[in-house]
Amino acid sequence: MSTATLAGECPECETDLTVPPMVQGETLSCPECMLTLRVEEIQDGRLSLQMVEVQLRDWGQ
Ligand SMILES: [Zn+2]
Repeated sequence: MSTATLAGECPECETDLTVPPMVQGETLSCPECMLTLRVEEIQDGRLSLQMVEVQLRDWGQ
């Protein structure tokens, strides 16, 4: 059985995500929590997603 989409889970809000085929390193936004997620690994049609830290310019110092 093959699928045209990939499945993953948001690491933040645990929403099940179904996305079109992507490659490692691509980013997407979670529709629920709006976080930016990066594809770390793709295995058997499952995405391993990691949230991308948004850098705040005026943080620190
Ligand atoms: Zn989310």
